[in-house]
Amino acid sequence: MIPEDVRREQLEAWDQQHVWHPFTPMQSYMVEQPLIISHGHGCYLVDLDGREYIDGVSSLWCNLHGHRVAELDAALRTQLDRVAHSTLLGQGNIPSTLLARRLVEIAPPGLSRVFFSDDGATAVEVALKMAFQYWRQVDPPRPQKTRYLSLQAAYHGDTLGAVAVGDLARFHHLFAPLLFPVHHAASPHCYRCPLGLRRESCGLACADEMVALIARHAGELAAVVLEPSMQAAAGMIPLPEGYLRRVREATRQHGVLLIADEVAVGFGRTGRMFACEHEEVTPDFLCLAKGLTGGYLPLAATLTTEQIFQAFLRPEHTFFHGHTYTGNQLGCAVALANLELMPMRLKQLPVLIQRTHEHLQRIASLPHVGDIRQRGLMVGIELVADRATKQPFAPERRLGAMVCRAARQRGVLIRPLGDVVVVMPPLAIDMATLDRLMQVVYEVIAEVKA
Ligand SMILES: *Cc1c(COP(=O)(O)O)cnc(C)c1O
Repeated sequence: MIPEDVRREQLEAWDQQHVWHPFTPMQSYMVEQPLIISHGHGCYLVDLDGREYIDGVSSLWCNLHGHRVAELDAALRTQLDRVAHSTLLGQGNIPSTLLARRLVEIAPPGLSRVFFSDDGATAVEVALKMAFQYWRQVDPPRPQKTRYLSLQAAYHGDTLGAVAVGDLARFHHLFAPLLFPVHHAASPHCYRCPLGLRRESCGLACADEMVALIARHAGELAAVVLEPSMQAAAGMIPLPEGYLRRVREATRQHGVLLIADEVAVGFGRTGRMFACEHEEVTPDFLCLAKGLTGGYLPLAATLTTEQIFQAFLRPEHTFFHGHTYTGNQLGCAVALANLELMPMRLKQLPVLIQRTHEHLQRIASLPHVGDIRQRGLMVGIELVADRATKQPFAPERRLGAMVCRAARQRGVLIRPLGDVVVVMPPLAIDMATLDRLMQVVYEVIAEVKA
């Protein structure tokens, strides 16, 4: 509700005058009619005019059960009656202890230590720094292992360490002078294969390349970092089956740590609780955020193994990293309630994934759809000017953004990645709302003209 002494026009003006929006071209934002969310329910968000929108990208990939979920609201209220926050530096609290225990129980086997932070980027920073420090403290020390290997087009967050291992030209290259050097392996992008091969006959040559890079640089590599199952912000690029397992085998064989960034793909998005499960892989670090609280509060966790933790057990060894709100009780309480709901969600997922797949087959026949990429309820629809040559549209047309604006007119909120239209509804979406969402996506893409 807008406070009674503030007019609606005033609120909109203040938003444009004072709020600097993330990943938003502010020049155009300031001249467009702003969309200001007033409240939400289920898979819908409602604006100041009372117009309802389907939350088609889960409020940027984090919402799982919809908005104003009774169980999550209750968990927060109960915790509020006890305490909102106390520090985790040198002392514990009840929800963070219970949450750490639960995460260890459900994570891939072998991950037994949980370091809390606030966002996906910090979950990755923590893993990068822990890996670095591990090699200095391990017996015998390997202080020359200071480098990282990540995938081309990777996105791991916006703090500088996370940007360094990232490789999205539009987001990252400007900051190059501030970043440490990183090795990049070709993105395993089957639609636009960097090796010019075809999936049917390639024999996973990109994985061979990756393995060769690991072998060649093992002496200086602290860790490989990647997103299992799907490179999300890169444009929803699915990793071919078997790729992750090959990377795990090679990193183990050559004494390199593996950081799995499941910030986007974790918590059921790909159909399993964690994407690593598809290939029965246990990484050395598992980075979690976005879905951890079901989309309610900022909270992140970096899980790691006893082996890593043991290297920090000498009196002179402390991991000098932490954030003021690390292990915040409200975040941990709602995360626990989120985990309680997950088994039911995971059970309902296969029919939703199948229905999404059926809608996508219809969308695939539209003239400007070049490729459709789906993992569970994560979908990328790549629009191209010419299907035969895969020729993209001119970037200055900002076609993806245009398509998403048209969807907003029809009551659907989605956000593109360039000309890749992303659809990632809350896992709790009901069939009728999913049908409506996919119908709107079909219509707005059908209207695209050369
Ligand atoms: C969103 C994202 C991040 C960054 O998370 P924030 O909470 O925005 O800092 C990191 N890695 C991946 C794979 C992401 O999708």
